[in-house]
Amino acid sequence: MWFNSFLKALDFWFLFGIVKGMPDGPLRYLYVDMNSYFASVEQQENAALRGRPVAVIPTDTDRTCCIAASYEAKWVGVKTGTPVWQAREICPTIELVLARPRLYVQYHHRIIDAVESCLHVDQVSSIDEMYGKLMGDERQPANAIALANKVKTAIRDAVGESVRCSVGLAPNCWLAKVATDMQKPDGLVAILPDEIPTKLYPLKLRDLPGIGKGMSRRLERHRVQTVEQLCQLSLKQMQDIWESKVMADIWWAQLHGQDLPSRPTRRRTVSHSHVLAPKSRTDPGARAVMARMIHKAATRMRSLGYWAQHMQMTVKHVDSPSWTVKVSLGASGGSNDTLVMVQKMSELWPTRHAGVPIQVMVLLYDMVPENSVAPSLFEEPRKQAELAVTMDKINKKYGRHAAFLGAMWGAQESAPTRISFTQVPKDSDWD
Ligand SMILES: [Mg+2]
Repeated sequence: MWFNSFLKALDFWFLFGIVKGMPDGPLRYLYVDMNSYFASVEQQENAALRGRPVAVIPTDTDRTCCIAASYEAKWVGVKTGTPVWQAREICPTIELVLARPRLYVQYHHRIIDAVESCLHVDQVSSIDEMYGKLMGDERQPANAIALANKVKTAIRDAVGESVRCSVGLAPNCWLAKVATDMQKPDGLVAILPDEIPTKLYPLKLRDLPGIGKGMSRRLERHRVQTVEQLCQLSLKQMQDIWESKVMADIWWAQLHGQDLPSRPTRRRTVSHSHVLAPKSRTDPGARAVMARMIHKAATRMRSLGYWAQHMQMTVKHVDSPSWTVKVSLGASGGSNDTLVMVQKMSELWPTRHAGVPIQVMVLLYDMVPENSVAPSLFEEPRKQAELAVTMDKINKKYGRHAAFLGAMWGAQESAPTRISFTQVPKDSDWD
């Protein structure tokens, strides 16, 4: 009897030893970035477009720009953002296809399911990007590469061979995203710890997620012109450049392959305010900017994964007391939907404001995590919530003002989005 227990204990410690002693591999993240996503979906849908230069356009007019280009179009110089007239000039045989957002969202879900069949998707970063964390044995380079190939095959089998992706593997999420950019289309790149940072040196500063036009100018002022120079900065120098200890810590960690713990979000409110430009200091001006602030706050809230039960709106006047109103956004769980909030605003907006408006503010509060909210039983609110999420995806991909509500017309440019330096930015916040 005692001998049996002894064997069991031995068994346990033996197994424990194996698990404990198992070497922890260096590759912790697998990032998937679809190549020329919208154009490749169109090529998948229509075999006649395969192997041909294709550009996806939002409306059927010469004045618009290409919102996606197939690799065949990219090779001759047509890019996202190229005006249609110019695309025709560069490439007279180009096939212009009208965008079908609903179709791209359907494919998006099929791609997530395909990846999920190989590896849990921890975050969907945009309509064509997602990542998962590698666990245990998966972190070993050979296993991680095998898993990446499995993901690529799963996507090809489930979605079609025209819809290709680049997969990046690295010790942190940021480097895994950088790795997806190193080989396109149909890439698979792993960045191992001993290849950091030298493997990054051939990149341009602007290739790095998080370095936009403004940041690259700031780096240039500090005589940082190459990725190599960036990697050689000390933590102190980074603090001076970013003027933020938090940001310097993040950049230091991500460039040196450290895995930052994701920050817990305990936010219960989201607010936005904007001082009106002189030309907007009118009732319609204040109203349009308020709609824009609501849109911004709601987008931010959705990106944090929350719904709000209440909204407060304030308009400050130059010459008279402020106007403030609080409103419930619905009995159960509130709302995450820009349209609902803008409708509430329209209902409550006074017919005449007391004075000249100078500042508008919106506060979304009593927030609850979206996974604790039951989906609406009614078709219309569900559709509206879907629309809000789709608009976020379009705006993430094509810039903040690609899709906005009619109520915001004329105020799209008010209060540009600023990167929040207190959290690791997500890939598409950087475009
Ligand atoms: Mg992509």
